[in-house]
Amino acid sequence: MKTVDILIVGAGITGITAASILAREKNKTVLIVEKRHHIGGNCYDCFNEDGILIHLYGPHIFHTQHKDVWDYLSQFTDWLDYVHHVKAFVDGKYISFPININTFEQLFEKSFTKDDVLAYLEREKIDLPEIKNAEDMVISRMGNTIYNKFFKNYTRKQWGVDAKDLAPEITERIPIRFDRDDRFFTDPYQGMPEKGYTELFKAMLDHEKIQVITGKDYRDIKDQVNFDKIIYTGPVDAFFDYKYGYLPYRGINFSFKTYDQENRLPMAVVNCPNDHSYTRITEFKHMTFQKHPKTTLCYEYPSDVQAGRNNPVPSYPILNNSSIKKYKKYLNLSHKKKDTIFIGRLGKFQYLNMDICVKHVMDRLIFD
Ligand code: FAD
Ligand code: UDP
Repeated sequence: MKTVDILIVGAGITGITAASILAREKNKTVLIVEKRHHIGGNCYDCFNEDGILIHLYGPHIFHTQHKDVWDYLSQFTDWLDYVHHVKAFVDGKYISFPININTFEQLFEKSFTKDDVLAYLEREKIDLPEIKNAEDMVISRMGNTIYNKFFKNYTRKQWGVDAKDLAPEITERIPIRFDRDDRFFTDPYQGMPEKGYTELFKAMLDHEKIQVITGKDYRDIKDQVNFDKIIYTGPVDAFFDYKYGYLPYRGINFSFKTYDQENRLPMAVVNCPNDHSYTRITEFKHMTFQKHPKTTLCYEYPSDVQAGRNNPVPSYPILNNSSIKKYKKYLNLSHKKKDTIFIGRLGKFQYLNMDICVKHVMDRLIFD
């Protein structure tokens, strides 16, 4: 029988940050149990058979406005100075995205000033008494032309349902800018871990008070471990044996292709709203600055996650009225489990960026 202070379920960025803080700052012994055969959860990266660093679960760019988060992680890694840019492939052209003055110029092939953009939006945007869904969120800010060219089909592919059937927060993430700033993220701290995410995580876990088991479901070992508390970063509905039914997730099938040429795309990510059945393509070398005669691209094909199973891995919580209502029932149950903290994107059924996962752990930790 093993004895530890805390059992952590899941070795994604949430579980790993919790382990690191508990061991280093709270002097606790920790066992992390991860059912995949690797650490890092969805942020895992590795070298493929051609020796190119890829992100196995889609492109991950670190960005944050929280200095404490940046400083915490910076103890374990240096950063590559990468600033993320995305283009949308629309009307046969690579167009600046998110929407900014350059987008209008490239789309309509004439010059625009800030005032021209404001006048365009004033004419096109739809006045709505209430923003009820992800379509309303776009058309009320940008109008139907922009919605149809950049958002409508991408959202349908990504989520498998119409934007009308999704919560407004889904498209609220995408800003509109009245200048020419076409960085995808405007956070003051952004970059890529110098040696990759997996190396960063290994450094965080490198502590005598932390033990890690991979390739095991925590249910298979929890009776062989004495512990005081659990930090649970798996799906909250699974913890309660799907008592109120499955929470819906969208998955992505990631298809990787290596080309015998140094570079293939003009930038790291190209969104394809209207062509192809994939949503976007990533060329990792633009983010990792790796020098290599070949290059690997990743194509993302969204698909349904089979309820309660991990094939493909659940990527995005599908937020709509019924799923939010169901989640609230699980939340009530989780409040009654005094010896367990539910945290992370699956534990909280939220779309969380990496930095917010770290921030939640830093702010909640934990069991003083
Ligand atoms: P996870 O990474 O899912 O980790 C939870 C772990 O728990 C998993 O490894 C799972 O196997 C394990 N687990 C579950 N159940 C059990 C069990 N019963 N027993 C043992 N282990 C279990 N964020 C950004 O900040 N920037 C980006 O550019 C970005 N890009 C993204 C791109 C895509 C395609 C997606 C889907 C997300 C992206 N994100 C990005 C979000 C980022 O992936 C999440 O913030 C992060 O992965 C969440 O970490 P987590 O530890 O909470 O969850
Ligand atoms: N979106 C879109 N077209 C795009 C990019 C995004 O319609 O070219 C919508 C889509 O609904 C998507 C949401 O905006 O799910 C959030 O986009 P983001 O790029 O933040 O998604 P993520 O990187 O999390 O997949």
